[in-house]
Amino acid sequence: MSETPSSSLITDVNDTAFDYDFFVIGAGSGGVRASRIASQLGARVAVAEELYLGGTCVNVGCVPKKLFVYASQFREDFDASKGFGWGHGELSFNWQTLRDNKTTEIKRLNGVYNNILSGANVEILHGRATLAGKNSVSVNGTNYKVKHILIATGSWPRKPTYQGAEYTIDSNEFFYLETLPQKVIVEGGGYIAVEFAGILNSLGCDTELVYRGELFLRNFDNSIRHFVAEEIRKKGIKLSFKQQISSVQKNNDGSLTVNIKNSAQNEEDRNVTVDAVVTAIGRTPKTGNLGLEALGVAQKTDGSIIVDNNFTTNVEGVYALGDVIGRKQLTPVALSEGMALARHLFDGQPINMDYDNIATAVFCQPNIGTVGLTEEEALERGYTLDIYKSEFKAMKHTLSGLDERTLMKLIVDKNTDKILGAHMVGPDAGEIMQGLAIAIKAGATKAHFDSTIGIHPTAAEEFVTMREPVG
Ligand code: FAD
Ligand code: NDP
Repeated sequence: MSETPSSSLITDVNDTAFDYDFFVIGAGSGGVRASRIASQLGARVAVAEELYLGGTCVNVGCVPKKLFVYASQFREDFDASKGFGWGHGELSFNWQTLRDNKTTEIKRLNGVYNNILSGANVEILHGRATLAGKNSVSVNGTNYKVKHILIATGSWPRKPTYQGAEYTIDSNEFFYLETLPQKVIVEGGGYIAVEFAGILNSLGCDTELVYRGELFLRNFDNSIRHFVAEEIRKKGIKLSFKQQISSVQKNNDGSLTVNIKNSAQNEEDRNVTVDAVVTAIGRTPKTGNLGLEALGVAQKTDGSIIVDNNFTTNVEGVYALGDVIGRKQLTPVALSEGMALARHLFDGQPINMDYDNIATAVFCQPNIGTVGLTEEEALERGYTLDIYKSEFKAMKHTLSGLDERTLMKLIVDKNTDKILGAHMVGPDAGEIMQGLAIAIKAGATKAHFDSTIGIHPTAAEEFVTMREPVG
């Protein structure tokens, strides 16, 4: 990225044969970033958005989710405060207040995005865009001739197919629930299911997570998966693994009877009556009825758009990035891809997206923070490993009365001493992991960690005081 741009790569802008130099479909994380940077680099840019400025992250993703996580943590904090001398009357919680305050904040952010785009001279077209031919896009019945088209249309919750699926709600609907369910099933075992189960449980709902596999959070380090299961069970979430919903029936009183098939040996199928079923079974690329087939844009069988390392599809002048290309469905990844493409097209910079060592957090309670390889991945790649692990009760819980524990784990290449991965379950693991990600990206060794003096008293200091490998 820091290389001097080659002038031959720089796109001619202001070509009057076109209405716009750059037409972006979707004003989400990737689309907004790409539009803004392209415009700042001199391109004439339009972005079409059919639902909401800011996309999934701002409207029905990261932002409202994190606000709900904050809200839900208060219950435990109020409880914990008693051991520190605080007394308080009976607690009450009002779902409508939380939901509506969250919506007000999101409307404010929609305005911020509008100002960011308008301030950068990006034309905002409210409506659904479709590909109308080579170098042509249609929005609200108007066709635009455009030099480059970026598809940044994101993804959408996958819908279950069992009988009665129409009675379930997905993550989009969860954020706007009329009332908070008293008893709820969350279906799935990925980021959203685990985060939502945590929110619902901590807000006081009787919460069961139903997952089809043996252990949830596939692709996370195995120690982390087991530890999280134990911790969130202690907080009251019922975890039902190797089980699958086979049908949902709506009762006269509005409750739902859920039939759950059990693939564990000697376990019977069962019916559970709940107020709501929240599904979080993955997200599919939003590519339906976009005009991709007519233009011949190549897609994978899951609908995601195939691109090369420069986010270029097989059709000249058509690009795609973010969730719709089905790589890493994370906001900072879409932002980074959007910035890289705009700089490539309008400043001639090469694209060198590096998908290694992307730190990520699951905002369950306690959080998971992780960067780099899991122990299982490192072994698969043939490394000889030193594993460092520390499990402890955080100082706060000596007085809080809570039984929460923290886990930290480092994966070290025995031959080079390089840190290959860092994993944590504990309060603020997401915050702690960001700093470690920089060190690991810079090639830190275990010796670097050992020679770093800790910040005392913190939980994070444990990452620089683990001395003896456990494996
Ligand atoms: P999006 O942000 O989805 O934007 C796509 C936009 O395109 C949308 O606004 C859509 O309306 C618009 N669009 C689609 N088709 C058209 C069309 N034909 N015409 C016009 N407009 C169109 N990631 C994190 O990093 N951290 C988190 O904590 C996190 N939490 C999440 C929680 C939830 C519940 C969910 C669902 C996701 C979360 N994510 C999180 C993932 C993150 O939101 C996405 O990876 C990110 O938003 C992808 O950005 P994008 O630009 O590819 O797509
Ligand atoms: P994930 O891909 O994380 O998890 C999907 C889950 O649903 C898996 O447990 C999967 O099981 C299960 N599943 C898939 N298909 C079915 C089915 N037909 N029936 C039953 N279960 C099924 O998706 P999410 O929906 O949780 O989230 C989407 C993406 O959004 C995440 O991958 C992440 O990239 C992003 N996100 C990021 C967050 C963050 O950064 N904190 C928070 C929320 C979302 P199996 O493992 O067996 O395949």
